[in-house]
Amino acid sequence: MRRSDRQVVDQTKIFSIIQKCDCCRLAITNDPVPYLIPLNFGFLPEENGIFYFHSAKEGTKLDLLRKNPEVSFELDTSHAVKTGQFACEYSFYYQSVIGTGKVQFVEEPSQKQKALSLLMKQYSTEQDFSFSPASFARTVILKMTVESISCKEYLPPQS
Ligand SMILES: Cc1cc2nc3c(=O)[nH]c(=O)nc-3n(C[C@H](O)[C@H](O)[C@H](O)COP(=O)(O)OP(=O)(O)OC[C@H]3O[C@@H](n4cnc5c(N)ncnc54)[C@H](O)[C@@H]3O)c2cc1C
Repeated sequence: MRRSDRQVVDQTKIFSIIQKCDCCRLAITNDPVPYLIPLNFGFLPEENGIFYFHSAKEGTKLDLLRKNPEVSFELDTSHAVKTGQFACEYSFYYQSVIGTGKVQFVEEPSQKQKALSLLMKQYSTEQDFSFSPASFARTVILKMTVESISCKEYLPPQS
């Protein structure tokens, strides 16, 4: 990373940044250009990190992932404009995570339940959710195992 002063290497901190994000963008192979898709996610802070996504049962991303499950991903948060007296003094504060991973389709019901619970945990402070058999039946769950990850942050000075 050119700006190594902005690099975050501590895995616990990287995972805490991921847990502040609300959208994960997946870049899926679709020659000649990637297919980039924003998705909500659930996150398990284990090993290099495990993401879960939910989806309707059909569509372009699923067709492409069946052909090639290797993806790149990106998340970002803590956005703020850095102002200045002149245009060239303006900048943008952020925390962002980029990496690669491999996606699998989750079929096992208890694993699907776990994934949906993690998704709810990312967006709600409620702890216990139940999922109807009907919603299970119409939902595809994707699991992305992280293979490489990097994190960069540029934050305002502490006041
Ligand atoms: C912040 C955010 C969170 C989301 N969370 C989820 C989620 O958790 N699960 C989920 O399944 N979907 C989510 N979506 C919607 C998702 O981005 C896709 O639209 C959806 O998954 C359908 O993808 P598909 O590949 O099956 O598209 P298809 O229905 O097959 O449509 C294909 C075409 O539609 C266009 N298209 C598809 N999606 C988008 C888009 N988002 N914006 C503009 N054009 C598009 C593209 O041109 C694409 O070629 C989210 C969207 C946003 C913005």
